[in-house]
Amino acid sequence: MKKILCLLVFAFILTNVIAQMKPEETEDWSRKPPIVTPGRFNNPPSDAIVLYSGSDDIVKWIHENGEPVKWIADSVLTVQKGTGSIKTIKSFGDCQLHVEWRTPAIVSGTGQGRGNSGVFLMGKYEVQVLDSYENETYYNGQAGSIYKQHIPLVNASLGPGEWQTYDIVFSAPRFNEQGDLLKPAHIIVLHNGVLIQNHVMLKGPTEYIGLPVYKAHEDKLPLMLQNHTNPVSFRNIWIREL
Ligand code: MG
Repeated sequence: MKKILCLLVFAFILTNVIAQMKPEETEDWSRKPPIVTPGRFNNPPSDAIVLYSGSDDIVKWIHENGEPVKWIADSVLTVQKGTGSIKTIKSFGDCQLHVEWRTPAIVSGTGQGRGNSGVFLMGKYEVQVLDSYENETYYNGQAGSIYKQHIPLVNASLGPGEWQTYDIVFSAPRFNEQGDLLKPAHIIVLHNGVLIQNHVMLKGPTEYIGLPVYKAHEDKLPLMLQNHTNPVSFRNIWIREL
């Protein structure tokens, strides 16, 4: 009985407090959002850094060993077998990333050997690129998986030879000065506009063999595109630093 009475009094006070507030009291004028012009007709938004648009943007990339890019770069960028992966010269941490990719129209290979590449955030955390259209492999290794860590929610793959999109929101991990992990990395991925990774937590850098373990690294590192020998193509790559 006493409890109910207390609750009633509390509800009465709360109702009166809300009633006494003015609409202006909950208005927030502390930060004016900057104006960004959205990209129309598949163009990047106005505040994006264009990493590959089919022009001479290849100068923004190098091979892992520091050499100039030997991939085929014309209107699109295509993996060249035997040349190694490529990375951006600029480093990135938290970001929104748009990548368009295409696996070969002429299908060859199966499983992991069919249209394999990868988008490595910070050169360490892989969103798998694979021809996963009627191509079975381990589910945490198919297109849109966070390789060997997270199975995509659905398979939103288009067929071989079709351009596909990844829209990624990445939160980089944080470490303290002693190198301890303060906050693990998180990632959201949309594949062809379909949500396939919903703010999942990364267990550490991508590992082919064994379990991932975090090791302290820089706040910003280059973005990497994987050379897995298959001639996968890329175009319209842009990034927004967050
Ligand atoms: Mg891969």
